[in-house]
Amino acid sequence: AHLPLDELIAALSVDVLDFPAPGIVFRDLTPVFADGPAFRRVVEGLASAAAADPRAAALASSGDGAHAGFDVVVGVEARGFLLAAAVALDAGVGVVPVRKAGKLPRERVSASYDLEYGSATLELHTDSITPGQRVLVVDDVLATGGTLAAAIGLVEELGGVVTAVSVIAELVDLGGRQVIAPHTVHALWTT
Ligand code: AMP
Repeated sequence: AHLPLDELIAALSVDVLDFPAPGIVFRDLTPVFADGPAFRRVVEGLASAAAADPRAAALASSGDGAHAGFDVVVGVEARGFLLAAAVALDAGVGVVPVRKAGKLPRERVSASYDLEYGSATLELHTDSITPGQRVLVVDDVLATGGTLAAAIGLVEELGGVVTAVSVIAELVDLGGRQVIAPHTVHALWTT
């Protein structure tokens, strides 16, 4: 049977109670990554958000990503890396990492944000995004939205145009979509 993609993701994902802290239901998507056909469909689904974005079509581009709707894919450490690399390779564009503080060796921009417990800092190499470049930002899960909001902010600080934001799973009750606004998030599974 060829399940709809959201049903396939729901069937493969595993809910882990009280991880990494009491009261949190962790949506473990690693079985989705590990399933070849599911992973391919997820990668194609993440890319389709940008192709559908009218702003992406309106922005002139003669690069390899002209038809994809983005010129580069930004992935957020660490699970976003697995997705961003696959999407970029499939589209024929490059991949750029947004990393946790202290990992990138050269000139960088930084953004700090609050987590449910404590805070975090993300960084991006200053020369990794060209002004006007169309950027697809991907991560595995949209929870409170702080992580993706910080990543989007770093891309925009360098003049990048975020034409799409894609995740596998959106945890609707945590309100991340409102935090990302006015950017819209394309989620393959809402739960
Ligand atoms: P947030 O900044 O709250 O949107 O958190 C997003 C990041 O934390 C993503 O990179 C997710 O991988 C991870 N994350 C947060 N909450 C969960 C959860 N309940 N299940 C799985 N991953 C989560």
